[in-house]
Amino acid sequence: KRKIAVMTSGGDSPGMNSAVRAVVRAGIYYGCDVYAVYEGYEGLLQGGDLLRKMEWQDVRGWLSEGGTLIGTARCMGFKERKGRKQAAANLITQGIDALVVCGGDGSLTGADLFRSEWPSLVEELVNDGVFTAERVEPYRNLKIVGLVGSIDNDMSGTDSTIGAYSALERICEMVDYIDATAKSHSRAFVVEVMGRHCGWLALMAGIATGADYIFIPERAAPAGEWQAELKKVCQAHRDKGRRNNTVIVAEGALDNNLKSITAEEVKDALVDLGLDTKITTLGHVQRGGTAVAHDRWLATLQGVDAVKAILEMTPETPSPLIGILENKIIRVPLMESVKLTKSVATAIESQDFDKAISLRDTEFIE
Ligand code: ADP
Repeated sequence: KRKIAVMTSGGDSPGMNSAVRAVVRAGIYYGCDVYAVYEGYEGLLQGGDLLRKMEWQDVRGWLSEGGTLIGTARCMGFKERKGRKQAAANLITQGIDALVVCGGDGSLTGADLFRSEWPSLVEELVNDGVFTAERVEPYRNLKIVGLVGSIDNDMSGTDSTIGAYSALERICEMVDYIDATAKSHSRAFVVEVMGRHCGWLALMAGIATGADYIFIPERAAPAGEWQAELKKVCQAHRDKGRRNNTVIVAEGALDNNLKSITAEEVKDALVDLGLDTKITTLGHVQRGGTAVAHDRWLATLQGVDAVKAILEMTPETPSPLIGILENKIIRVPLMESVKLTKSVATAIESQDFDKAISLRDTEFIE
């Protein structure tokens, strides 16, 4: 019987449980044994109790659970070849040669590396006398399929990542709460949201809540000039009768000298304008709570396709990433998407902000 494993890795995101549920159930439906790897790559390294066979009923009710119930962790050991060799040994011991990884670009890069090294890791395990050549024969190749779990919506080649719409929904809810009190006192609020290299959450939340101004990494604000521009815009909105101001700052917001723009600095500019200004850093509430419907169906359809992709893969097939493009579930070569994603960060680092914006799939507003 074919054995596949599913794991979550990197930062958690709402919808990861829906993805695990879908892989478990689709795997069983297609006649496979499905294992869950607990605690991200740490579970692969330790094996044993962290590699558990899952039954149909084990994932009952998981669609609506936030976070990831099989746990996630950052694992230094997996970044070393020695750790990946141990991981390979643990998988072969269980007879598993296919892995669905739901995580961010770091996790997926690690997974792709693991696959490319696999044949040589297996060879070494045989040479070390851990397994006989006969024992490893059915497991000469590893199959990897990637699902993107990330609240930042920061992966190229796919319209939305699992968890992004849940985080966006939460941010909008929080900004609505803030608006009520802000309007009462005629205050300004600077709201800091997550997104280190990616301004999607800040941008979409800003549009959805009618924010006065938005700071994102891809569209760096002109150093030394943005304060005046910000004040002008907020004043103009006040002149039109607005009783509050909302400024959304992505945690990775930058000026065009690559200096980070902090909520404190934004507040200072607004205070300078004479506004009673408060800062709210939303923090981890953005990750919490149940997944919105979008993330549930996205993770479900993608989880099912991940299993199909595994069953169709040959050793020559590049590891696929299951994405969504124009409402269709698609497969794209995983490393191409990761490379494109990294090129956005590189463009930002080299101050080529126009390129950073053009590399984003989302329609960024000029
Ligand atoms: P994300 O997947 O959200 O981008 P990280 O970058 O922290 O999060 O990666 C999660 C885990 O994936 C790391 O703790 C590590 O175990 C593994 N990983 C990340 N990058 C690599 C890499 N280049 N090689 C091997 N493993 C990696």
